[in-house]
Amino acid sequence: MLGSYHNHPGYCDGSGSVEDYIDAARAAGLAALGFSSHAPVPFPCDWTMTVERFERYVADVRAAQEAWRGRFPLWLGVELDYLDPALVPGGAEFQRRVVLAVGLDYAVTSLHFVGRDPDGRPWAVDESAESFARQVKEVYGGDVRRLVEDYYGLVERLAGWAGTLGIPVVLGHLDKVKQWNVGERYFPERAPWYREAVERALDAIRGARLPIELNTSGLRRALGTPYPGEWILRRARELGIPVVIGADAHRPEDVASGFAEAQAILASVGYRAVLVLGADGWRSIALR
Ligand SMILES: [Zn+2]
Ligand SMILES: [Zn+2]
Repeated sequence: MLGSYHNHPGYCDGSGSVEDYIDAARAAGLAALGFSSHAPVPFPCDWTMTVERFERYVADVRAAQEAWRGRFPLWLGVELDYLDPALVPGGAEFQRRVVLAVGLDYAVTSLHFVGRDPDGRPWAVDESAESFARQVKEVYGGDVRRLVEDYYGLVERLAGWAGTLGIPVVLGHLDKVKQWNVGERYFPERAPWYREAVERALDAIRGARLPIELNTSGLRRALGTPYPGEWILRRARELGIPVVIGADAHRPEDVASGFAEAQAILASVGYRAVLVLGADGWRSIALR
């Protein structure tokens, strides 16, 4: 009965065609499929769609929706960055005019950009291990705690913004900032300051009634844990924050990757239901 809503076909940094993903989703026994290529941003970025690619993407997904109507539910979404006004002046207006104006079915709202690179461009926390090391050093003078606190402060603001978009939204990979923290080489997740930053973000997420994603891509990396990790999921469950399972697939064969493990993790922290997308927005279905 599950759907998969965080998928990147080959229009941004993903690969595979829309039809390849549909084939993979049906073979995996999924009940629905959503597409979420990285939405265009108003500055040069090599992993988001250009405006021209976005137009092609929208046309291709809509054509597939038409072709599969009544046989397999397909949803047109994007992964939409939170562009803080201090970092990207006019970013939210650009998104409204260029991205949201086409009439999306939903969006995975994510935070990637924290601070600026030496060229003055917004700097994503997840580009590479080397890039993150430079970001900590060059933007924060080696103080990773300040970077992480800025990250979660921006997640709080994202929560307020996401509710204004007027379409169903889910917060992508809540603790993405831990991507390069393999073996806790940058910070201990048990540290009180880290937990407090996460708790403040969870409060804002609950206040905004924003569902979060259990993103399985961390399970496929050296990290070996999903986004978010188990203690954050447990807190989210205590706070009544609903969850959507997402693969963050960048190739068709990952469209349902880790979904069985995700369901087991959710059950182990007390979740009894997950959200799936319907014509009226998110609705809850029981976990098996
Ligand atoms: Zn992302
Ligand atoms: Zn993604």
